[in-house]
Amino acid sequence: LVENSVIQIGTPDRIVKTTCAYCGVGCSFDAHMRGETVVKMVPSKDGKANHGHSCVKGRFAWGYATHAERMLHPMVREHHTDPWREVSWDEALDFAAERLRRAQAEHGRDSIGVITSSRCTNEETYLVQKLARAVFGNNNTDTCARVCHSPTGYGLKTTFGTSAGTHDFDSVEDTDLALVIGANPTDAHPVFGSRLRKRLRQGAGLIVIDPRRIDLLDTVHGGEGLHLSLMPGTNVAVLTAMAHVIVAEGLQDDAFIRERCDWDEFLAYREFLLDPRHAPESVQAQSRVPAELIRQAARAYAAAPRASIYYGLGVTEHSQGSTTVMAIANLAMLTGNIGKPGTGVNPLRGQNNVQGSCDMGSFPHEYPGYRHVSDPETRAIYERVWGVELSEEPGLRINNMFDEATAGRFKGLYCQGEDVLQSDPNTSHVQQALASLDILIVHDIFLNETANYAHVFLPGSTFLEKNGTFTNAERRINMVRRAMAPRNGYEDWEITQMLANRLGGGWDYAHPSDIMDEIALTTPSFAGVSFDLLDREGSVQWPCNAAAPLGTPVMHIDGFVRGKGRFINTEYVATDERSGPRFPLLLTTGRTLTQYNVGAQTRRTDNTVWHPEDVLEIHPHDAENRGIRQGDLVRLASRAGETTLRAEVTERMAPGVVFTTFHHPGTQANVVTTDSSDWATNCPEFKVTAVQVSPSNGP
Ligand code: SF4
Repeated sequence: LVENSVIQIGTPDRIVKTTCAYCGVGCSFDAHMRGETVVKMVPSKDGKANHGHSCVKGRFAWGYATHAERMLHPMVREHHTDPWREVSWDEALDFAAERLRRAQAEHGRDSIGVITSSRCTNEETYLVQKLARAVFGNNNTDTCARVCHSPTGYGLKTTFGTSAGTHDFDSVEDTDLALVIGANPTDAHPVFGSRLRKRLRQGAGLIVIDPRRIDLLDTVHGGEGLHLSLMPGTNVAVLTAMAHVIVAEGLQDDAFIRERCDWDEFLAYREFLLDPRHAPESVQAQSRVPAELIRQAARAYAAAPRASIYYGLGVTEHSQGSTTVMAIANLAMLTGNIGKPGTGVNPLRGQNNVQGSCDMGSFPHEYPGYRHVSDPETRAIYERVWGVELSEEPGLRINNMFDEATAGRFKGLYCQGEDVLQSDPNTSHVQQALASLDILIVHDIFLNETANYAHVFLPGSTFLEKNGTFTNAERRINMVRRAMAPRNGYEDWEITQMLANRLGGGWDYAHPSDIMDEIALTTPSFAGVSFDLLDREGSVQWPCNAAAPLGTPVMHIDGFVRGKGRFINTEYVATDERSGPRFPLLLTTGRTLTQYNVGAQTRRTDNTVWHPEDVLEIHPHDAENRGIRQGDLVRLASRAGETTLRAEVTERMAPGVVFTTFHHPGTQANVVTTDSSDWATNCPEFKVTAVQVSPSNGP
C-alpha cells in the first residue's frame, strides 16, 4: 500500500528546509531529497519552534505524498451518484465554473460559498476567502477552525483584544506552574509536550483539568500534580469556582488589575464571583471535583510567581467553549499572569495552520487580521486593492451552509482540504446537506468521504510540493518550501486562481510571495512580513510591522491590544448533553500520538501499525457493569446514531466517562456526536455526548 513511507536508503542530492504539515507546533524540517524522492526528514536544529526535535508524525509520516491512493487527475460527474470521469484540468475547471455561475443565476448571489482548510498555506487560504468575497460577491467563507478553535478567537478577542495565544513556546522554560486544561500535549502536541515535561522535571508545578488522566501527571518532579478529573461539560463551573477562591481569599493581583484592566468591571466581576453559587462546595456535585481540590488548585495557581495556562479542544468544543476561554483569560488577568515570560494564555492549536487560516480571514464575519466585514475602513482597503465592491453582510458559517442547503437555498460549495463529512458533527445531517447541492467541488489530495457527494474533484498538492507559509500556535510564520514538483501538476493556489479567473477574477499571481505581499499590504499585523524576511530570519511571530519589525514573541507586555483587559462574568450553563437513564455515560474524544485527526494522511503511512483502529476507553466499573471485557466489540449509541468499536478497559478514565479517537473512517465517531454547539461560534460540542455502551451483540 505504501510506496515511500519508510526511510529510503540513498544519498540526498539536496536539502530543502520546510515545515511539518501535522500539528500546530510547527516543527521545522530538513527534507533530504534525491530527485523527486524523500530520503529522510530531519528536524532542523535551527527550527525556532522545535530546536532540532520532532515526533513520529513529522519524522516518519510523510509517505502519503506518494501513496498509491493519491489522486492526480481532475474528475467530474453530472450527479453525485454517477461514476467519475477523468478529465483535463480545463474541462474540470470549466465545468465547476459553469455550475457555480448557474447556481448564482438561479438561486442568488448568496447561494454559493467556500470552506477553507487549516492544512493549506496562508497564501492558499487567503485566496479561497478572496474567491468568496471578491468573485462570488458574498462573505460565505468558513474554515475547519469553526469546529476546533473558533471559541478561542471569540474569547481572546473579547477579553484581550486579539484572537491568538499570548506567548511563544520558549516561555515554558520560565514557568513555575502550568495549568493544562482540555489538552494532552504529549500525544497531540508532542514536541511542545516534551518541553513542558522537561520543565516539570525541573520542578515546575502542574494542574491538570481533564476528565481523563494524561501522561503529564506522571512526570511532575517530586510527586503528582493536581488532577481535577471533572465531568465533561463543567469546565466553566470549575474555573469560575477557582476564580471565586482567588477573590474570596484576596489572592488576586490588585496592582496588575488596577493598571491593566478596567477596575469598575473588575468590581462587578468580583461581586459576581462572590455569589455562593460559585463556591467550590456549590459546584462539586455537578463537576464531581472535590471542593478542597478546587481550592488547592486556585491557591497554587495564584501563588506561583509565574503561572501559565495551556489548553486544547477540551476547552473549545463545548456548548460553553467561548465562555470557558473567557474564564481562562479571567484567571490570568486576576493573578497578573500575562505579558511576561512564563505566564500567559496559550491555546495549543490542533492543525498545522489553524492559526493561519483564522488570521487569513476565513471566517464569514472577518477580513484577514480579524477585522469585521461591516467596518467601512477595512472594506475600503480591500475594495481598493481587489478592485470590487464588497458585501458588508456577514456570510454563512459551515453549519448555516448545511442548514441552508437542506432548505434548498444554498446550492454550491468549493471545499478545499477539508473532509466535512468525516470531521463535522451529526453525519446524517451533513450527508443530507451535501446531497442537496447542485455543485460540490472537492479539492483534496485523496478521494475523501465528502467527495462521495461531489460533482468535481480537483486533486490537491501536499506540503512537499508547494511554497508558502504556515502559522503555528505561537503565531510563528514558518516557511513551507517546495521539495518536489506537484505530482498533480499544480500547487493549490494555482488551482484556486484558475477557478477564480474562469469566474472573472482577473488574478495574476506568479508566486505565493506575491500573495504574501498583498496580505502584508492589507493586514496591519502582517505589514512587515515578506518571503525575503522569512528567508533571512527563518520565521517571525506576528504582529510583525513597523513597531515590531522582527515580530512579537510575547503579546500584551505593556497593555492589552484592546486597551484595558476585560473581565467577563462566566455564568455556568449546563449542557443539554446530560447523562440519563437511556444514555448514562458521557463520551469525550481526542487524538493519539501516532495518528492525526481523521487519519487521511497518517493512515496512509507506516504509522498505522501503532494505532490500527479507534478503541473505546472505559473505566473497569462501567465495563464490568455491562459485561464488557478488554478487547470486546461494543456498541456505542447516542441520540444521533451508533457505531461499533473495540473496548479498552482502563483506569485512565473516570467512572461515567468514555473516550475514543476519530482517526479511522470505519468507526465514524461523529455518527454519535450531536449538533449541540458553542453559543457564540457554533463550534460543535464534540467533547460531550451522552451515550450508552453495550456488548455489540447486546440489546
Ligand atoms: Fe509535526 Fe507536531 Fe510532531 Fe512537530 S510535534 S513533528 S509539528 S506533528
